Amino acid sequence: MAAAKPHILIAGGGIGGMCAAAALLQRGFDVDVFEQAEAQREIGAGIQISPNGCRALDSIGAFEPLRKLSCRAESKEVRLWNSGKAWKLFDLGSQAVERYGYPYLTVYRPDLLEAVSAAALRLKPSALHLGSKAAGFAESGGKVHLTLENGATVTGDALIGSDGVHSMTRRLTAHDAPPVYPGMMIWRAVIPARDLPERLRAGMAVNWIGPNGHVVHYPLRGGEWINLAATLERREWDEPGGWMAEGAKRQCHEDYSGWHEDAHALIDAAPKLIKWAYLTRAPLARWAYGRAALLGDACHPTLPFLAQGAVIALEDGIVLARCFETYSDAPEALRAYERARLERGNRMVAESSAMAAHFHNPGYRDAGWAEAYIDREWSAEAIAARYDWLFTYKCDSADI
Ligand SMILES: Cc1cc2nc3c(=O)[nH]c(=O)nc-3n(C[C@H](O)[C@H](O)[C@H](O)COP(=O)(O)OP(=O)(O)OC[C@H]3O[C@@H](n4cnc5c(N)ncnc54)[C@H](O)[C@@H]3O)c2cc1C
Repeated sequence: MAAAKPHILIAGGGIGGMCAAAALLQRGFDVDVFEQAEAQREIGAGIQISPNGCRALDSIGAFEPLRKLSCRAESKEVRLWNSGKAWKLFDLGSQAVERYGYPYLTVYRPDLLEAVSAAALRLKPSALHLGSKAAGFAESGGKVHLTLENGATVTGDALIGSDGVHSMTRRLTAHDAPPVYPGMMIWRAVIPARDLPERLRAGMAVNWIGPNGHVVHYPLRGGEWINLAATLERREWDEPGGWMAEGAKRQCHEDYSGWHEDAHALIDAAPKLIKWAYLTRAPLARWAYGRAALLGDACHPTLPFLAQGAVIALEDGIVLARCFETYSDAPEALRAYERARLERGNRMVAESSAMAAHFHNPGYRDAGWAEAYIDREWSAEAIAARYDWLFTYKCDSADI
């Protein structure tokens, strides 16, 4: 008689956890996801899904439903913070499909979580356990026992910690230092496009780059909304109540004093501005620990300067499921997953941090220097060197 397929427990029902659940269920594994929140929640903001992420979504059947709700931005460009001089970065539509097999989408985050969750829950409607905070776990007798905060214990063959940047699973496995504020924060808003001047409603993603921050905007939901994501270097986090808070327009205008009028038009039109602290952690040398492994922000939280955190979490989920399909022993499958993913995840984090110097540079105050620097650092070759290794990866067939 064939051995029963492993029963896999997942702590954290975010984008990464639900994608892993969908990919595992698709391959016939039994999966239960434990999410601390009473209802699945995503911040009402935008997210960019590059072609490698669309490939992951497609492999769980979530690409088409999401594409209908998203926006296929035509191109991406950089603009200089004060003059507005523009350089085209890459075509996000037909050229992306030709080159990478999928387009580059800009998506409303709740739509992404919904699409990924639906892919899992249509295969096992009872897989998601809300209001179920994972509090600890232990291994014994060839099983893993997950304890919930409500006192219940659930037993399975493996535990996937996709419980985000403050991961409980990471605390109990890697025992490393908690996340730190890296001296950078972001202002976030979703703006009805009708409230913006025509020129800011175009179907393109724009990165305004400047001396102490950068401002990104792109369309969502077929162009109905514009997502604003404005990063700023600020030495100290000044909201004692937590890592996010509603902010004042006046402060946001002051933060971008001297920037192009378009940056201020976006701030003016924002119905509400949220201040959000970035958080980072040192890279890990291990993601797999016996019958437990980490996935998504739990093991590779990142500055979002390559727009890859969620995309790499989606890839993790597909590769993890492929490893369980290939290696029947759970610890072996988790080691194979770590081998296949750790270097890519850690490289993504390091290169995202390195992008800060391209996006924020005191030299951008000098127009002549700025233009020469952008011509060089944002040339087609430089862009390909930074992005092609990310976009060409095929999570559905890469070596495992
Ligand atoms: C400003 C900003 C912009 C970004 N832009 C992009 C982008 O354009 N493209 C991109 O790919 N990425 C982007 N990212 C990164 C992306 O948001 C994250 O990488 C992604 O959300 C990680 O998904 P995850 O499922 O690993 O973690 P999370 O989304 O954090 O989900 C973790 C889940 O675990 C739950 N949880 C936590 N602890 C427990 C527990 N003990 N028990 C049970 N449940 C628990 C949480 O409630 C949550 O639902 C951006 C990030 C930021 C901050």
